[in-house]
Amino acid sequence: MIIRARNVVTMDGAPIENGAVAISGDRIVDVGKFDQIKARNSLDVIDLGEQALLPGLINAHCHLDYTCLRGKIPRQKSFTDWIRAINAEKSKLSPADFMASINEGFAETKRFGTTTIANLTAFPELLRQLPDAPLRTWWFAELIDVRSPERISELVDSAVESLKFGQNHGLAPHALFTASKNLYQRCEEAGSNVLLTTHLAESREEMEMFRDASGPLYEFMKSIGRDMNDCGNGTPLELFVGTSDASAARSSHALSQWIVAHMNELTQSDFQLLEKMSTKFHIVHSPRSHQYFGHSRFPFKRLDTLGFNVSLGTDSLASNESLNLFAEMRAFQRTEPERSPEKIFEMITVNPASALRQQNTLGRIRPGFQADLIAIPCSGDRDLFGEMVAFDGQVNWMMVNGKTKSIGV
Ligand SMILES: [Zn+2]
Repeated sequence: MIIRARNVVTMDGAPIENGAVAISGDRIVDVGKFDQIKARNSLDVIDLGEQALLPGLINAHCHLDYTCLRGKIPRQKSFTDWIRAINAEKSKLSPADFMASINEGFAETKRFGTTTIANLTAFPELLRQLPDAPLRTWWFAELIDVRSPERISELVDSAVESLKFGQNHGLAPHALFTASKNLYQRCEEAGSNVLLTTHLAESREEMEMFRDASGPLYEFMKSIGRDMNDCGNGTPLELFVGTSDASAARSSHALSQWIVAHMNELTQSDFQLLEKMSTKFHIVHSPRSHQYFGHSRFPFKRLDTLGFNVSLGTDSLASNESLNLFAEMRAFQRTEPERSPEKIFEMITVNPASALRQQNTLGRIRPGFQADLIAIPCSGDRDLFGEMVAFDGQVNWMMVNGKTKSIGV
């Protein structure tokens, strides 16, 4: 089929006015001016009218497990109090509740135009009940060994086994304060083709715990029996990269497997370390969750200047109010007003595609790429990207894998 729209935003040069995309099966086969596409392809035409056709959006960091926690956790005095609060809420939920939460999350994600999601789940075993995710999903098994450091292999093996039921998968040792160094290492040993993600340098309390061996998070983790010997030796980033112990330093190849969420708390020496890295990991920033916690300013400009690939994600609804990437772009724009709307749009298309190693299949409208597309109304304003970032509604047309999806509103 041919999809025609007032504008086609390919992310390969300027948007195409009166443009069209030809689709065959699950792939894009042609893109250009409507007249040319029609002349080159004898296919049925769907005319979307006064709309902009965009690549489907990619959420680089989410936890659909916690969709049902929206509005349940008021802002806490500290990050540690928030961890206590979410643990208390989670203990009230059954596997059926988490399953319902995941499905509710998918439905909401779809309404806001996300066609691909990097989703961390604490319950990979639930994937058996969900063989066909409604969106293109990377399932990352979130792993925590703070209470069972002797069972790492079992933990990783059973997660990998469960993940086979999902589409695409990866592993997510939760964070340095809940996952041991051995668990991180074991995840890397799962293979260079396995994507990895983690939470790093998120809060001031995490910095205090590792650098100074003190503070509320340090006390809390100690009280639940964590081995605190890795504290007081360096920053979270130093510990993650492994500089304090040369033999444990991550190979640069392994670093490129990582999608690292947060990176709010970085010291001067951390920046020197980042500068020296020849191979860089990918970074995800969640602007509205960041705002909810009141973390230190996300050092976007410095990370961008150092060449890091930065994407946006929503994080979970335990610290955000919706799974809307348009709202994330606006929140980001408020703190980085100099960044152009086009470059901000890359943070939910091209950049996360590359973090997921899908730079040749997702994030653009280009022949050979997956047919994952969305449409939003557009007025024909000259500042199309500005209009896209400002879009504050629900999308009314979506295609994933060459199939149009009902948005369910
Ligand atoms: Zn997260």
